Amino acid sequence: MLKKNSSLKEVLKNQEPCKLCGKCCEYGSGFLVEEDAKKIAKFLKISEKELKEKHLEKVRIYNKGMLRPKFNKPYGKCIFIKDKKCVIHHVKPLHCKIACCGEPGKQNDAWFRINYIVNEKDEHSMSEWKEFEKRNKIKWK
Ligand code: SF4
Ligand code: SF4
Repeated sequence: MLKKNSSLKEVLKNQEPCKLCGKCCEYGSGFLVEEDAKKIAKFLKISEKELKEKHLEKVRIYNKGMLRPKFNKPYGKCIFIKDKKCVIHHVKPLHCKIACCGEPGKQNDAWFRINYIVNEKDEHSMSEWKEFEKRNKIKWK
């Protein structure tokens, strides 16, 4: 069972191999961590500015600004899914890499949120997180 302070290495091990079926990418996209934008822009041979303008969108979640690939709203395809394949697979956002399907993916998703987005000192952030815990029937340690 993962804990809040589990390492990324442990998290990466905690998943079923992705079958690259592209199903989850038909209903939204994953959040980027800081280094992701640079890697994706380099892979696509465009500037980070162009990447952000053309392919990413800003969202506020747990009272923090985050970037994620654009997708058709409300629950549609990620901009990077083509013929059921992620065109940036090798450099996809960390959240996409670890929040795979199945039970381990749910744990990894919670680990990502609490480590990269939630601010435990911010009451708005924490109240949104408590809702997430309640909705997903988890109690993170
Ligand atoms: S970036 Fe790739 S893995 Fe992430 S949601 Fe989009 S298509 Fe899927
Ligand atoms: S994580 Fe997404 S692409 Fe990978 S097997 Fe699960 S549904 Fe398919």
